[in-house]
Amino acid sequence: IIIAENVHKWYGKFHVLQGVSLSVNRGEVVVIMGPSGSGKSTFIRTFNALEEYQKGSIIIDGITLSHDLRNIDAIRQEVGMVFQQFNLFPHLTVLQNITLAPIWVRRWSKAKAEELAMQLLERVGILEQAQKYPGQLSGGQQQRVAIARALAMQPKIMLFDEPTSALDPEMVREVLDVMRGLARDGMTMVVVTHEVGFAREVADRVILMDSGSLVESATPDIFFTNPQEDRTRQFLSQIL
Ligand code: ATP
Ligand code: MG
Repeated sequence: IIIAENVHKWYGKFHVLQGVSLSVNRGEVVVIMGPSGSGKSTFIRTFNALEEYQKGSIIIDGITLSHDLRNIDAIRQEVGMVFQQFNLFPHLTVLQNITLAPIWVRRWSKAKAEELAMQLLERVGILEQAQKYPGQLSGGQQQRVAIARALAMQPKIMLFDEPTSALDPEMVREVLDVMRGLARDGMTMVVVTHEVGFAREVADRVILMDSGSLVESATPDIFFTNPQEDRTRQFLSQIL
C-alpha cells in the first residue's frame, strides 16, 4: 500500500534523505527507529505530502505522489497523521475537533460526522470528554483525541511521529493501548517511536534509520536480539 523507492530530499545543500526505499503491505505495522536528526520525521512526512522530495518515487495505494503535489488532497484523505505535539484546535471542543474535517472536506452532515466521532471517542476510551476543550484534558487524553480526529477521515494508513514522546510516563500506556487496538483491527501503520515494548509486541517490521539512510529492516525478534548491522547494535546499546 506504500511503495517508496530511492527517495532523496535536500534542505538546501543538506542531503536529508539519501535514497530511502520502503514498501509497506496492507495491514502491516512498521516501526521506525533511529537517532535524532536521522530523517525519520522527514521520511514519513513525505507519505502524506507534508514534505516534498526531489528524487525517487512514492506510490500510496496506487496514487503516485508526484512532485507537483497534484494528488495532495486525495493523499491526505487516505493517510492520517498523529504528531508528538497533539496539534488540536484549542478553541474547539473535542467533538468539533474531530468533526471539522469530515464536515468541511468530506461534506458530511453534522449529524453523520458527530455519530462517527462519538464512535471513535468510544474506541479511544474518552467518550465522556466530547464537550470539553483540549486544554481541559490530560496529555494522554489529548493524544487520543488527535488519533480519533485522524481516524475520522477514515484513512487507509496511519502515520505516527513519536506519539508518546511528549507524554508523562503514566499516560504513555493508554495511547499505546489505542494504537495496539488499531493494529489488531488491521490498520496499516508506520510509527516512529522509541517504545521498544510496543515495537516488539506490535510491529511486523522494525527499521533503523541513520543519517538519511535505511540501515536495517528486520522482524522485531531479529532486530532486537540478533541485528545484522553494527550500527543497529550500537543504537540498541544506547536505548536498551
Ligand atoms: P528526531 O528524532 O529528533 O525527531 P528525526 O530523525 O525525525 O529526528 P528529522 O526531523 O527528519 O529527523 O530531521 C532530519 C534532519 O533534517 C535534521 O538534521 C534536521 O535538522 C534537518 N531539518 C529538518 N527540517 C528542516 C528544515 N525545514 N530545514 C532545514 N533542515 C531541516
Ligand atoms: Mg522526528
